[in-house]
Amino acid sequence: MKQVVLTGIKKMEMVEVAAPIITSADEVKIKLKVIGVCGSDIHYYSEGRIGSQVVEFPFPVGHECSGVIVEKGENVDNVNIGDLVVVDPSVYCGVCDQCLAGRPHTCRSNKFLGCPGQLDGCLGEYIVMPGFTCFPVTGSLNPVQAALIEPLSIGLYAVKLAALANNKQRIAIFGAGPIGLSILLKLKADGVQNIGMVEPLAYRLEKALEIGAEYGIQPNIEDVEAKVSAMNELLLDVVFEASGEQDAVDNALKILKPGGKLILVGIPPDALYTFNMDHMRRNEITVVNVRRQNGCVEEAIELVQSGKINAELMVTHQFKLEETDKAFDIVEGYKDGAIKAMITFD
Ligand SMILES: [Zn+2]
Ligand SMILES: [Zn+2]
Repeated sequence: MKQVVLTGIKKMEMVEVAAPIITSADEVKIKLKVIGVCGSDIHYYSEGRIGSQVVEFPFPVGHECSGVIVEKGENVDNVNIGDLVVVDPSVYCGVCDQCLAGRPHTCRSNKFLGCPGQLDGCLGEYIVMPGFTCFPVTGSLNPVQAALIEPLSIGLYAVKLAALANNKQRIAIFGAGPIGLSILLKLKADGVQNIGMVEPLAYRLEKALEIGAEYGIQPNIEDVEAKVSAMNELLLDVVFEASGEQDAVDNALKILKPGGKLILVGIPPDALYTFNMDHMRRNEITVVNVRRQNGCVEEAIELVQSGKINAELMVTHQFKLEETDKAFDIVEGYKDGAIKAMITFD
């Protein structure tokens, strides 16, 4: 089968490899339909690592995908051959303390699709996964929508962890990439009415306003604190950080009201942030870290299927597998108005 592998920093190649085979009665073989290019794939592409997770080249990345079941082990009963499925890229053990505590996303032996040292990614024609990672969506989602469920579910989970007191809470999101926009889509679906988007790129800010952000701020040319406080005298209840930028954390702490919450979703490239403890401590700010998602796939499917969320608004580009290098190049360089690029098979 054809597979696309990273071969070095900002280098990739399409290679011919043996298709993966089912080795246990609990597994399914999936023929890929659509693969989303994620910001975390881009970290592996441009830096060769995310924190302690280092790529050994060559390596196939990719973890956001939809596909069709072409083969299944005899124990698999949640999907059938021919089903279009959403693939949850997280494979957990089910028996460790974390899994038993309802935290499979922090499973002690979690293996994640397209994560170095764990599982090969989905940038190829077929993958094999445990059946339990697959959610059938035949007839309710198209393959592009199905591949958007993974990033969308992270937005849902971030909003869940923010535990908003009501939909009148005042909110800002830093970063109008796919995760920031997924958070925005979920907040709008919940009827939240006062959301500011902070994003330096004008075309991404425009997308956020189109989705329903009440106001936008470009932190590179505007004073975030001044603009937020002019509109919200008492400052904000919750800030979602989805950019991975130190500046965003600094600004977030200035615009949160006492008792406010800072929800950290973005991945800082060098794994470090500093926090102004004067703001944090005096205002008793709660900081919440979001690790991928936990248990939000079904709700994400339902919100898209019911039309409450139009996740396809995020998609700006579609490419074929052999054009994966182009897809990564435009997403990495924020070229050509790129927000979400998808790799599709016909
Ligand atoms: Zn992702
Ligand atoms: Zn576990």
